[in-house]
Amino acid sequence: MEFDSILDAINYRVRCPLCSHLLDTSIDNPIINNNLIFYLDNKPDKVLININTQITKIDSEQKYFGGQSYFYFLKECRDCTCYWFGIQIVIDIMNSICYVVKIILGTEYFLIDDENKNLHDIHNKHSINETHRYIQYKDGKKSSLQKLPLIKFNNAKDFLDKIDKISIFS
Ligand SMILES: [Zn+2]
Repeated sequence: MEFDSILDAINYRVRCPLCSHLLDTSIDNPIINNNLIFYLDNKPDKVLININTQITKIDSEQKYFGGQSYFYFLKECRDCTCYWFGIQIVIDIMNSICYVVKIILGTEYFLIDDENKNLHDIHNKHSINETHRYIQYKDGKKSSLQKLPLIKFNNAKDFLDKIDKISIFS
């Protein structure tokens, strides 16, 4: 899934689909004065992307020439801590001028307990269209990793039911 703008990507989900709490961007990539901040290899050099205008600039003492850089940021639920999603942003840097090339949805993570109190650890890997799950049973055992075709989330119970159904046949 590709986004037209950073704002669309940030707003992919505003609230946690599991507990409805507002999601936060991770502390590694804060939004300061409407700029989403990514650090380059040489900290404290950083890239600032304005989330409204998408104007992108490098805040650095040194010059950067040419090449694409990949950044990944998370939006997470700090309330239930059972949900996050990741956005990958590709930027192109040319003579210290940079612009956004691509914004894509990466992985979406869910940690859901079922009615038997087993925990389902689920990664929806949008870039490869797969849902990966393993189950942590309440007795401490762990299932093997199941790789399934991507299953969309609508609500926790329905999501688990669909995954169970499909995993029988795969
Ligand atoms: Zn939550």
